[in-house]
Amino acid sequence: MIRKNLDLRQLNTFGISASAKYYAAFDTVSELRQLLAEFNDETKLVLGGGSNILFTKDVEGLVLHNKIDTIDIAGEDDNFVWVKAGAGVPWHQMVQYCVERNFGGIENLSLIPGSVGAAPMQNIGAYGVEIKDIFWELEAMDVAEKSIRIFSNEACEFGYRESIFKNQLKGKYIILSVTCRLRKRPVFNTSYGAIESELAAMGVHTLSVKAISDAVIRIRSAKLPDPAVIGNAGSFFKNPVIAPALFQQLQNSFPGIPFYKGAAGIKIPAAWLIEQCGLKGMRIGNVGCYKNQPLVIVNYGNASGEEIFGFSERIIEVVQARFGIQLHREVNIY
Ligand code: FAD
Ligand code: NAP
Repeated sequence: MIRKNLDLRQLNTFGISASAKYYAAFDTVSELRQLLAEFNDETKLVLGGGSNILFTKDVEGLVLHNKIDTIDIAGEDDNFVWVKAGAGVPWHQMVQYCVERNFGGIENLSLIPGSVGAAPMQNIGAYGVEIKDIFWELEAMDVAEKSIRIFSNEACEFGYRESIFKNQLKGKYIILSVTCRLRKRPVFNTSYGAIESELAAMGVHTLSVKAISDAVIRIRSAKLPDPAVIGNAGSFFKNPVIAPALFQQLQNSFPGIPFYKGAAGIKIPAAWLIEQCGLKGMRIGNVGCYKNQPLVIVNYGNASGEEIFGFSERIIEVVQARFGIQLHREVNIY
């Protein structure tokens, strides 16, 4: 059913009120094709769980809500199993499907909100794993041609919270399904963050896909704000990756600066930079930095998208002035 002038407040985790000129949900590829033909002249915005988007204006076009919700085993051999999920499946449901069957590789990505279809958009990642580590291929519809194309892992050009769909192909494809390749004999990754201490607190002596998933769920539930209670879109900024020369200067001035060396440069936790600027827990009007994790900007009530965007501008300026580092937004701004 096509809705007109629908308020999207319930459809984004920031809880921002923005009106969609037209709104339609689709369950199948043929329904999507029909909608694309019918609304040929309108701009289109695909929405999954709305957990990585900030509306700063109304949508003067068609919001397409992906509800393709199939999930199946697409193939297997002695070592691997390929799981294919429709883009409208909630991501954590895909994780649970694999965890219940002891398929390994996805467990560190437990409890990330949103849909399967949006997961490759920013190469979702947590606790040392990114979807690119298990991603096999996706099917996507070319919005202009209405033809279906298959993208391999390489074709998605995954980077740190990046993919080709967030860059050159932004708005050009609608992801329909994602296939991941999981291990039948899991290789565990517990080196990151608080996973090991959480497993110890849980009394786990033998690692399993389920135990790691449970540990991640416990850590996340304790640390992150639940969007059902307080509006947010997770980390608002990416962790900056800086050149060694700048890092050296910073380390001289701030000897305690946390850092992680990687192939692309030196990653500095944005949360630390924000906290050092005295912004952790800061609130201006309806908007603030979350008390447990300042990288998460929260909507305390009836904030508008512009108000949240303005707050993020302020954080960028303050961090730039203190550290000479430019923060970049991770959340998609509409
Ligand atoms: P939406 O917000 O609906 O859309 C995001 C973007 O993708 C938009 O540009 C939209 O147009 C586009 N899009 C959506 N679906 C499709 C599709 N089918 N085809 C083409 N384009 C599409 N992210 C992480 O990486 N790691 C985390 O650990 C993490 N933790 C989070 C914790 C919390 C509490 C919250 C609120 C968010 C967190 N996020 C995290 C961010 C977010 O959950 C992910 O980016 C998620 O993949 C977004 O999915 P979504 O369906 O909600 O996307
Ligand atoms: P954390 O464990 O307190 O760590 C702070 C930051 O340091 C993280 O952002 C992480 O970078 C980095 N880090 C920690 N240990 C690392 C290691 N061993 N190697 C390289 N980098 C390391 O972070 P947190 O806020 O509680 O989040 C935990 C995980 O969930 C992180 O991976 C984070 O990205 C993810 N998460 C993402 C979102 C989102 O919206 N994108 C929201 C909540 C949580 P990375 O972020 O690069 O991993």
